[in-house]
Amino acid sequence: MKKGNLFEGGFRSLVAVIVSAAFVLGAGTMMPEGGYVLDNNKVDAAVNEGATGSFIPGTYTSQANGFGGPVEVTLTVGDGGGITEVSVKGASETPEIGGAALPVLQDQLLKTQSAELDGVSGATFTSDAVRKAAGVCIAQANGEEIPEIPTPEGDNLYVPGTYTGTSKGFGGDIEVTVTVSENAIEDIQITGDHETENIGSFAVDMLGEKILEAQSPEIDALTGATVTSNGILRALNDALVLAGADLTRFAKTEEAAAPLKKYEDLDCDIVIIGAGGAGMTAAIDATQAGKKVILLEKMPYAGGNTTKATGGMNAAETHYQKEQGIEDSVETFIEDTMKGGHDLNNRDLVTVMAKNSAAGIDWLDSIGAPLPKVSFSGGATNKRIHAPEDGSGVGAYLVTRFLNKIDELGINVMYNTKATSLITLEGKVVGVKAEGPDAYYTINAKAVILATGGFGNNQEMIVNYRNDLLGTVTTSAPGITGDGIEMAEEVGADLVDIEQIQLHPTVEQGTSMLITESVRGDGAILVNQEGKRFINELLTRDVVSAGELEQTGSYAYIIFDQRLRDGLKAIEKYVSTGITVQADTIEGLAEQLDIDPATLAETLATWNQYVADKKDPEFGRDTGMDNDLSQPPYYAIKIAPGIHHTMGGVRIDTKAQVIDTNGKPIPGLFAAGEVTGGVHGGNRIGGNAVADIVVFGRVASDSAVKYCDGK
Ligand code: ADP
Repeated sequence: MKKGNLFEGGFRSLVAVIVSAAFVLGAGTMMPEGGYVLDNNKVDAAVNEGATGSFIPGTYTSQANGFGGPVEVTLTVGDGGGITEVSVKGASETPEIGGAALPVLQDQLLKTQSAELDGVSGATFTSDAVRKAAGVCIAQANGEEIPEIPTPEGDNLYVPGTYTGTSKGFGGDIEVTVTVSENAIEDIQITGDHETENIGSFAVDMLGEKILEAQSPEIDALTGATVTSNGILRALNDALVLAGADLTRFAKTEEAAAPLKKYEDLDCDIVIIGAGGAGMTAAIDATQAGKKVILLEKMPYAGGNTTKATGGMNAAETHYQKEQGIEDSVETFIEDTMKGGHDLNNRDLVTVMAKNSAAGIDWLDSIGAPLPKVSFSGGATNKRIHAPEDGSGVGAYLVTRFLNKIDELGINVMYNTKATSLITLEGKVVGVKAEGPDAYYTINAKAVILATGGFGNNQEMIVNYRNDLLGTVTTSAPGITGDGIEMAEEVGADLVDIEQIQLHPTVEQGTSMLITESVRGDGAILVNQEGKRFINELLTRDVVSAGELEQTGSYAYIIFDQRLRDGLKAIEKYVSTGITVQADTIEGLAEQLDIDPATLAETLATWNQYVADKKDPEFGRDTGMDNDLSQPPYYAIKIAPGIHHTMGGVRIDTKAQVIDTNGKPIPGLFAAGEVTGGVHGGNRIGGNAVADIVVFGRVASDSAVKYCDGK
């Protein structure tokens, strides 16, 4: 990459200020070839230190990019040198969010007489835009000369050089650096290290290519990674403005008519629908068994809800447990699962899962995805949840490794290709109809495996089966819309436990981000707004969720310390997303949460004593008590229940054959993972989703392979 500019490190915030200046000053001097050099510490100082009474009287106006379009700030400095009037406008901001924040920001500006505004939570982009535009106005009112953004020569689009813009993504800052010639974007570098692995990170990897191809910021956000995509496009806009671009030239013209799609026939042994955990497991396993597999994925990326799994995989009698001196048994695993599921589970399916779990762990070892770290998780008698060594979230970790293996085996994964129906012939399932970006497919196969996941992101289906959950946030990925259940029903499949929908007790409501159970497993506690614990935090998810709903405001805070943060990588994402509150003392934390400091301090002291005694006389918690909470800083995240897992689904037998409404297997149709019902009963315990996808993904593959071979 050609790199000529000096916008790095501490200069980054200034880039934004200069972008705003473009709107104020329009045409100006030529930018030096190869980059823009800025010495503008005084502007920065003005942003941070504007002081009453020190400005030059006059009226100053500036604009900056908000969420929906430009936000304009006008300041009037009176004869006394203080800001006497402020106007903040932004007609394109979302009325109820950014729009509502504008008058508040206007007041803040007048009150603080500075661009260092508190901002309005929930309206980050609008707040930032007001800060930027106000910063430029104040710099001007301080008598600073604002550097001018250059105008390209003649009809050229850009002034050649390398320019950088930054913006907020899902997990933190995104930086886009473009290198432009007179009329083209020649190179683009996008960095966004904090984006969710395999979702946002995918957008970071993919969008650069799309932008280069389109030669425009006017491209569609990537489905499922909208926040990251929009962050990238905003940062790109900023960089292009620095290059002298007139963004209105990129406005979309009329959509070109979509070309007609062709029809295509494909053949294989096994079609697998859905490249989540179960689908990828089955695809790898069946390919290893010598079958020709086609894996269909309707999204532009693999992973589904599996990517979001943060805890680990439950497995009993594994070599890791034995090596670490952990006693456990398949029998206890079965009983814990049945008890957790309120005995609604199909015991035969639970037995298959528990018995094959250790082999599942061995299989993961064999494909380069070991899960050696064993700990406690809610509802388990023994240390049974297996996680990656480095503390990273199990889902993203597995998806990356599954994809590596899929590449290595040369499996045909068709992305952006949605299965629309199953093809049947004389009562047997013999293929799948699908639609991709360029073609409609008829895929003929000897067997089909459904691995489309649940329906947590299909509000209509949720409300149809559970009216009481109307409006509840969901942690499900965008593609999890129950397609497999509908396709299976069309060929006569029976459904089981379909109304059993699990709420997860620790979901941050603003972002729908799930706070992994491992945080509690590693020692965190839950407190209510009164600063008190109210439950054994490691009881099953339904019980803890119900406990939270009984507290003031139907929410709680999850509290942990620095030691816990250091041991659990997942927490870094929570911190970089900005959902954690932190303080050096418990009292300081309490103040930020509006909790009585003395009460919270007493709750923590009492809890630490319980940990020392290895006994919780109040709520009977007896797991996740290896370490107390005593190492500052202390952290809190406000959480409440969210829809997490749809436990019901297509009925299968112990061979993962789909069963029809007459109780008979549907020949040629197999299913695994969240699309199925029966394994988890009335409540899934943490760590069993991954056990389900790995074990039943392999069972479905094994049965489909045998079926293909006529066995
Ligand atoms: P599981 O945990 O059971 O493996 P996941 O949620 O991880 O389920 O993955 C299910 C995958 O199936 C997702 O990637 C989703 O996008 C994909 N999917 C859902 N419906 C379809 C469909 N009609 N065609 C192709 N892929 C689908």
